Amino acid sequence: MPPRYDQLGVLEALYWGAMKSKDALDLRLAEYEVLISELERKAQSIELEMKEFFELARMRNIVEAKRLGLKYFRYGGVTYDSTGAFCKARCGKIFTIDDILDWEYAEDRPVLQPYDAIRDCGGPVCFPGESHCNHTFRFVTDAMGEMLLQEQHMLRGSGF
Ligand SMILES: [Zn+2]
Repeated sequence: MPPRYDQLGVLEALYWGAMKSKDALDLRLAEYEVLISELERKAQSIELEMKEFFELARMRNIVEAKRLGLKYFRYGGVTYDSTGAFCKARCGKIFTIDDILDWEYAEDRPVLQPYDAIRDCGGPVCFPGESHCNHTFRFVTDAMGEMLLQEQHMLRGSGF
């Protein structure tokens, strides 16, 4: 029996809920594994563009972190005066993998359609005039992540 119209809303809600869930991340990671091997194969014959190089680094970060059961990372890299607000706001801070997926709905996300926060990250907003973000996800152990996150909250609380 096909779902009734009034049930479709529920099914849609479940579908969109699943898109942001663990299953959706697993699907995305499976897709990354394919993209990673394609880029690695390409890198053997020609030099990757900077954009591809950093996409590859971030996809490897995430796939490897999930394999090791890590979830906390520091948004790594440096910022300059010209660095965009998206990367400036995140640089040096501690986040979880779930936070990255939320960035796809963040108001300061780069104007890219589609936007994949792991592959694109700060996108062209990172360095004005360039087409890539060179920031990386530096994963830490859960204990270290929780400690750094607490420290971060305390610093924010004291006005820094
Ligand atoms: Zn960046």
